[in-house]
Amino acid sequence: MAGGAARELEAILDAAVDPFIACDADERILHVNAATERLLGWDREQLLGRPVTDLFPPRLHRFHGLSLPRYLLSRRKVLGGRPTRVFARRRDGVELQVELTAGATGVDSQERIVLTMRRLHEVIDSLEEPVEHVPGTPDRTAHHEETVDRLYRLVVENAPLGIFHFDRAPIVTACNDRFAHIIGTSKRNLVGLNLFTLSDERIIACVRESLAGHNCDYDGDYRALTTAKVTPVRVRFAPCYAEDGTVEGGVGIVEDITDRRRVEAEREENLAQLDLLFRGAPVGIGFLDANLRYVRVNETLARINGIPAEAHTGHTLPELLGEPGALAERGPRQVLRTGEPMVNKEALSDEDLRIPGPRRYFLGNYYPVRTPDGRVLGVGVLVEDITERKRAEEERAHLYREAQEAIRVRDDFLSIASHELKTPLTPLSLRLATLERRLERGENLDPSVLRHARHQLTRLTGLINDLLDASRIEAGRLALHPEATRFDLLVEHTLASMEGQKGNHAFEFETPPEPISVQGDTYRLEQVVSNLLENALKYSPDGGTIRVRLSLSEDVAVLSVTDPGIGIPEDQQQQLFDRYFRARNASTRSYGGLGLGLYISRDIVERHGGRIWVESEAGRGSTFYVALPTLSAARPALPLAWPDRHLH
Ligand code: ADP
Repeated sequence: MAGGAARELEAILDAAVDPFIACDADERILHVNAATERLLGWDREQLLGRPVTDLFPPRLHRFHGLSLPRYLLSRRKVLGGRPTRVFARRRDGVELQVELTAGATGVDSQERIVLTMRRLHEVIDSLEEPVEHVPGTPDRTAHHEETVDRLYRLVVENAPLGIFHFDRAPIVTACNDRFAHIIGTSKRNLVGLNLFTLSDERIIACVRESLAGHNCDYDGDYRALTTAKVTPVRVRFAPCYAEDGTVEGGVGIVEDITDRRRVEAEREENLAQLDLLFRGAPVGIGFLDANLRYVRVNETLARINGIPAEAHTGHTLPELLGEPGALAERGPRQVLRTGEPMVNKEALSDEDLRIPGPRRYFLGNYYPVRTPDGRVLGVGVLVEDITERKRAEEERAHLYREAQEAIRVRDDFLSIASHELKTPLTPLSLRLATLERRLERGENLDPSVLRHARHQLTRLTGLINDLLDASRIEAGRLALHPEATRFDLLVEHTLASMEGQKGNHAFEFETPPEPISVQGDTYRLEQVVSNLLENALKYSPDGGTIRVRLSLSEDVAVLSVTDPGIGIPEDQQQQLFDRYFRARNASTRSYGGLGLGLYISRDIVERHGGRIWVESEAGRGSTFYVALPTLSAARPALPLAWPDRHLH
């Protein structure tokens, strides 16, 4: 029963609106009710056994040599039950002004001290209290003031912003519900709060400012003591003036900026993403205002223009880039004039923009940037450096042309080769038929017929050998068998072997008296020399003189073969040594050939460490040169210059 009664009493005390604290003779807390928990931010269990003075600021712990409860008890008679205003201290250190009453029961160790607290009246609510009238004399002024006060109250209570007032102490004297709601606590918990005891220094600074007569803005997160709810708030502090013009306190206008913060955060995130896109875009992006001055450019455009991004701001293109800038400005200018976008305008750095240096290709897009009401604010610029892409396209086109050319060369070659290979066959078969006929008739054989037949066969063999050699060179399989060789004798020998082919041409040979030795493949070097001599005969008129000169210059033997023939047009001299190349002036009809002899010769000469070239004038003859290192010069390099022995 006793336990039940205690519980009931506890429930009754918890239902009380005002905080209630009971302590023992040592002023240690024995009991607190729910209102105390709510007001001071403690849990009941945490308080039990603690000195009651923990609920008050340290400066109030002792008064006139007594503890605060004892002091209040000592004043009981004088006060006659009226409360005393003191500061209570919340768990977080914030001070609240309360009205405190002390009472005691029992003696000695059985003594119990009871403290009851009451929150200060909220000023706004107190305005509702009836105003006393002198009976019978209607007080119009009082009535009027009451109406105005009521209006003020309505304005304050209905404001979509939190509003609180504080006095000079600075104690919160009144606030509206909206403020309590934003902060996440009750109005009762706010009124009486000493703002100087809040932990946020910036709030204290703003309170000081407003008490000093200035406005002050606070932006921050407010943490409610009881619910620990964090609310982002913006508070505008302003001073309140008394009728005599002095600052009597201040007012705070509080806005819950949770939504605004979220919107701002979203906007910032969007902007950051856009900014990232803008900065990192591989395309140059810029914005020109209505005077064609840059407002902003990204790094890519800065690189294209060759000027740091920040240096663009406020400048026109001509100011930044001179003449090329003036030329580049034509696009944006036209967009401003017509209000129409310009897309995919290609510009060549050298021709269109007169930018010195290697050619670059730009792709420009310009478009009007408008306000929602259609006014043109400026011009958006997108510029892409498409040089690489263009180069790749050109390279592809070049490769395509080359492939086409290779196909054409191959087709030409096939028709030339079949023609060339067929040419000796007709006379050969004619000659063989003649021989056969004569043999059948028992007639004498004409040796010249046989000679001619053999000549055609030699020609055929030569053509086929050239084809084989060319394909060996292509495959890197044309083997050389070098040995010490008298080059002067080799040339002389080759000249002698061609006596039969020279017809009415004359050979003139000039060689220095001393022997000239090279390290070389005799067979292949003879092939080179005879090729030059055959060409000299083939491409010069019958009866002309072919001059062959061998000279020695330092360690190099130089052979030259000069003919008075058709010569070679200058623009084709470089290509003579390419595979299948035949000069324009050597028509297939008049001069047979596969365009392989010089190609093979160049390969042989170069692999001997030498060089082959031509000097010629179209219509006036040509001189072909072959320079080879002599034996003494060639020897050290020999092992590297020749591949292993291969059959050929
Ligand atoms: P071809 O079998 O066509 O003569 P070459 O490789 O020996 O092949 O010569 C390539 C081309 O060089 C010839 O088609 C010809 O146009 C030109 N050429 C070579 N030698 C001479 C020369 N002595 N005079 C004029 N043109 C020459």
